[in-house]
Amino acid sequence: MTDIILCKLGEIVLKGLNRKSFELKLMGNIRRRLAPLGKFRVYCLQSTVYVEAEDESADIDAAFEALKKVFGIIKLSRAAACEKDPAAIARRAIEYLRDDMLVAKSFKVESKRSDKSFPMTSIQLSQYVGGELAEAYPGTAVDVHEPELTVYIEIRDLAAYVHAAAVPGAGGMPVGSNGTAVTLLSGGIDSPVSTYMIAKRGVRLIPIHYFSFPYTSQAAKEKVIELARLLTEYTGRMTLEVVPFTHIQEEIRDKCPEEYFTLIMRRFMMRIAERIAEANGAKAIVTGENLGQVASQTMEAMASTQAVTHLPTLQPLVGMDKEEIVQMARRIGTFDTSILPYEDCCTVFTPRHPRTRPKISEVEEVEAALDVQALVEEALAGIERIKLDHEEL
Ligand code: ATP
Ligand code: MG
Repeated sequence: MTDIILCKLGEIVLKGLNRKSFELKLMGNIRRRLAPLGKFRVYCLQSTVYVEAEDESADIDAAFEALKKVFGIIKLSRAAACEKDPAAIARRAIEYLRDDMLVAKSFKVESKRSDKSFPMTSIQLSQYVGGELAEAYPGTAVDVHEPELTVYIEIRDLAAYVHAAAVPGAGGMPVGSNGTAVTLLSGGIDSPVSTYMIAKRGVRLIPIHYFSFPYTSQAAKEKVIELARLLTEYTGRMTLEVVPFTHIQEEIRDKCPEEYFTLIMRRFMMRIAERIAEANGAKAIVTGENLGQVASQTMEAMASTQAVTHLPTLQPLVGMDKEEIVQMARRIGTFDTSILPYEDCCTVFTPRHPRTRPKISEVEEVEAALDVQALVEEALAGIERIKLDHEEL
């Protein structure tokens, strides 16, 4: 008999008819996430996904940590299994709930029996276990109306379960339940956060990185690979598309006025992203842009960037403050990697006086000096694909 984990489903409960497919998607994501941690049984009953170890090899502690990062779970708790005997249940509760009982000022016990042959009624069992707990933890009073802690006991077919307090899950919707998008991943602080936010809405993501070797180093690329790998804990496995960007940047540098460098470069990024999206059935382009943060993030600049694609661009950070973005990057675990000091392709060719309020027609005129189509095809032909999985973390 081992612990089980109970995962409460989040928003997907509201989805009526789609609910079943959301549940299946979530269970698939959970199974894949737990596969490297041993053998688990995963099933769903009444908007709760149950995870049970199937044999001794299953690492239930690691599973609990991993499940905190799976989107679609709003809260999760563990329950300890024990013999279906009142004294054994009380002993288990006293030992298993020690930390919770020492902190809480008041508690109550709620019991549920699906095995009706159990010798006590639910109320009798609650009273008995409550009495034993109160004796073991005299600092915590029984309060059946507004308890700080509710202890749940469940008598099921094979065992009895004592539930610990729930902790918050990652929320959101199961990845894959809301389609696919490409996400532009630089080595900066912002784009890992924007990727995380759109994954949270249930979108499967294909990260794209534009790489300008030798202007940007191998170490800069490794950093982006590491960021994408860190994100797989939330997004599930992904394939990073590394697009060779050097020739495009050199062409822009040689043939266009300096003040337009960034704008034209960003238009190339969007065109290539759209083509990768089309090839993979992705329906949107995610970026980490943030209104007013840098010269290329004015509304006019965004208009000229987005004019080259028909796909919606999703910019979840657009209205956030830098400090809020930094906090989130720390929370999801990408910040320390993002601040490693490697150059990005944008910084290498940054104009001294960038155009901040460009007209689209102006940018088009300047860009006419380039063979846009051929450059896009050449970049697409040189893509390197790197498969990433959280198993490698
Ligand atoms: P970040 O912190 O994500 O680098 P930023 O504040 O530096 O963002 P910009 O340099 O203007 O902003 O880039 C805006 C967005 O364009 C980035 O958030 C990212 O989505 C995308 N982007 C920029 N450079 C690259 C790159 N080399 N490869 C892929 N995407 C990029
Ligand atoms: Mg950047």
